[in-house]
Amino acid sequence: MGDSLEQLSTAIGLLDTKFGNHKLSSLYKTKAWGNTEQPDFYNQVIIYNTSLRPQQIFEITQQVEKNMGRERKEKWGPRFIDIDILFCGSMIYYSDVLTVPHPQLHRRRFTLEPLCELAPQFLHPVKNFSLKDLLRLCKDDLAVERI
Ligand code: ADP
Ligand code: MG
Repeated sequence: MGDSLEQLSTAIGLLDTKFGNHKLSSLYKTKAWGNTEQPDFYNQVIIYNTSLRPQQIFEITQQVEKNMGRERKEKWGPRFIDIDILFCGSMIYYSDVLTVPHPQLHRRRFTLEPLCELAPQFLHPVKNFSLKDLLRLCKDDLAVERI
């Protein structure tokens, strides 16, 4: 909702203040996943270096979402910002609220495309495939446009 590009840069600015320098993928425009009756989404992947634990990282990303006025209503509905934790290095982590690697990332072209731009050889620690191979195997047919 709102000006997507502006929301993204606001979110990145807020995350930078917590995590420091980043490596950023290009911006990708995608059809809305799960619920196709809504405007396109913009997606971007960021790599941060941090020694924080997954739960601590999650608390920060939740706080940024909240500060940006995200309200949790319908799943996959329109929102100001959605910050997902894709990987924490090669760590595997499960809790009631957080699963790392993100359990859906290998099914989403809009996640795999920008991930592959940054780290095509990175090995998914659960799937045991590189990101490049996961993208090759991905059956998501929603168009992803690099802009
Ligand atoms: P989605 O990201 O799939 O569009 P939501 O942002 O509404 O959907 O996320 C739903 C829930 O997923 C969150 O409340 C959070 O507890 C949970 N979750 C589990 N693993 C992760 C993760 N790796 N990153 C972000 N959220 C996660
Ligand atoms: Mg999310």
